[in-house]
Amino acid sequence: MTNSKRFIQRLSQLVALPSISCTSAEWDMSNRAVIDQLASWLEPLGFSCEIQELPDNKANLIATLGSGSGGLVLSGHTDTVPCNPERWDQDPFTLRDSNNRFYGLGATDMKGFFPVALAAIENLGEQLQKLKQPLIILATADEESSMSGARALAEAGKPKARYAVIGEPTGMRPIRMHKGITMASVRIQGLAGHSSNPALGHNALETMHEVLGELLAFRGELQKQHQHTGFEVQVPTLNPGYIHGGDNPNRICGHCEMHFDLRPLPGMHIDELHKQLADRLLPIGHRCNTPITLTRLIGDIEPFEEPATSALVQIAEKLTGNPSESAAFATEAPFLQALGMQTIVMGPGSINQAHQPNEYIEHSEIQPAIDAIQALILRCCNE
Ligand SMILES: [Zn+2]
Repeated sequence: MTNSKRFIQRLSQLVALPSISCTSAEWDMSNRAVIDQLASWLEPLGFSCEIQELPDNKANLIATLGSGSGGLVLSGHTDTVPCNPERWDQDPFTLRDSNNRFYGLGATDMKGFFPVALAAIENLGEQLQKLKQPLIILATADEESSMSGARALAEAGKPKARYAVIGEPTGMRPIRMHKGITMASVRIQGLAGHSSNPALGHNALETMHEVLGELLAFRGELQKQHQHTGFEVQVPTLNPGYIHGGDNPNRICGHCEMHFDLRPLPGMHIDELHKQLADRLLPIGHRCNTPITLTRLIGDIEPFEEPATSALVQIAEKLTGNPSESAAFATEAPFLQALGMQTIVMGPGSINQAHQPNEYIEHSEIQPAIDAIQALILRCCNE
C-alpha cells in the first residue's frame, strides 16, 4: 500500500471511532477504541505499549521504542469535542476527501496527528531500529474536557524523555507558551426578608456589588504588575461570566452566585492567585454578615512557557523555518513540562478549523508535517 493510501485509511479509521469527551455526562464517551487502534499499529513497528487505565473506561497509551535517558515524546489527545451533526454537511464520523481537504470530526484536532507520526516513523525504515534514544508515542484521554489523562500522567511521573512535542494544530509553528486557566464561583449566603425593613435580612446582592468591585480592582492590579509582549492579549484576564441572585424586588436577596475565569501569564501561580482572592473577598462576607464560599470549578491548567533558548525550541524553529510564538489556547504542555521535559506544541492543521462543523485538514499540510516530524525524530533521538 502506498504511504498516502495508508495515511488515508488510518485517518478514516480514527475518525470513525467516536471518542467525544465532555464535562456533561450525556455527551461523554470512552476513548478506549482509539487507544487500542493506535496500539495495534505501533506494536508491529516494535513499540512496547503500556495502557494506563483511567476512570470511566478511559485510558492513556504510552508506546515506547528503545531506551535511554533522552529521546522524544510525540503526544496527541485521542478525544474530540462534541459536535452538532445537524450543522455538518456530512456524517462527522465518515472521512470525506474533497476540495483537497480531508473532512471529519478530529481531522485537524487532532486525530490527524497520529497518522502523520506513524508515516514519519515508517519512513525512517532501517534508521528506526538504530535510534540512540527512545521514541515515545503518547496518546491521552480527556484533553478537551478535564485533562484527566495528562493529570494522571503527571501523577504517575511518566513518560520521561528529554523532549516532548504535542501535535496540536499550529500550522507547524512551534508554540512555546500559553496562558493558564482557572475558573471559580463566588457564593454569597445572605438572609431573605421583607424589603420594607432592611434590618430583617442581609442582602447578598449588595455584598456581591462589593465583591465585584474588589474583583475588578484585583484584575487592574494584576494587569499593572504582569505584562508579556509575547501574547496578543499582553495582560492576565479575569472575566465575570455568570451571575444569579435573588427572586423578587420586594424581597431582601438571600443568595447570590457569580462565576469567573482567570487566565494568568507565565510566571504567575494559580494557587497563589486563589490565596490572594480569598484574602480579599472573604473579609467582605464577614463584614456584611453574608458568608462567602469560593470554589474552583474545574481542574486548573497552569500557564506554560518554554524558554526561547531551550534546545527543543531552537531545533523546531530551524527545522520548520517558523519562529516560535504563543497560543491563545491552553494545552497539556504544562503537565508534560512538569515531568521534566523540554516541551513545545507543534502540529499540522489550523486551530481555526478545530471545534467547528465541517472540520478539515488540508492535503497540502500533511507531507510537510510528516517530513518535519521525521527530521525531528532523527535529530532528537540520535543525540
Ligand atoms: Zn486539541
